[in-house]
Amino acid sequence: MLRLLVLILVSASPLFPCDFLSRWIPRAPDPTESARIESLRAFIRSLEPKQLVVDRDFYRKTSRFEERFGFPFSGQKLDSWFGDRIRFFKIGRTDPYLAYYNGEAIVLGKGFFLLSKIEQALVLVHEARHADGKKYSHVDCPSDFPYLSLRIPETKPAGLKACDDISDGSYGFGAAFLFEVFAYGLAERTEEKYILGLYNSELTRILLPKGDR
Ligand SMILES: [Zn+2]
Repeated sequence: MLRLLVLILVSASPLFPCDFLSRWIPRAPDPTESARIESLRAFIRSLEPKQLVVDRDFYRKTSRFEERFGFPFSGQKLDSWFGDRIRFFKIGRTDPYLAYYNGEAIVLGKGFFLLSKIEQALVLVHEARHADGKKYSHVDCPSDFPYLSLRIPETKPAGLKACDDISDGSYGFGAAFLFEVFAYGLAERTEEKYILGLYNSELTRILLPKGDR
């Protein structure tokens, strides 16, 4: 069946506008997109934990970064962690998601480059965690899941594979990253509340009793 579909698509392709297939089949980033991805990687490497802007005790109790990633927060190390997992990027259709990991590359959707650098970094952390194995795949959010998506409120997570039933999946890693960004004052001042909202949103996707998140 799959072969037949591929055959039909390939044989029919001259009949369609040339971008028909590229909308469905992920393609390599163009030079502008490659430069943006490299600039994002440089931004991640620049994130360093110089000085806490939150109470040290509060930080110690709340930070999960080292527990999750296996090293204390450092942009340089985070970029290496990322590079160990992801070698390629592709561009393609990803809706209703912003990006996905296809087993060898991160496929970025059209909305990815509209995000702030911190959010783009969060997406990379999230997708790179998927490269650690199928056990980090998502589960369905419950049909009565009450929370909205912070980025695309119209896309309700209820019933979508957009939750985790483990604390150290992509959402747990995302929350751990965001907390460091907040605690070390690495976001733009106007972004701080949004970062906290994203942090809370990541935690709502972990379907475990509160104390286990
Ligand atoms: Zn995911």
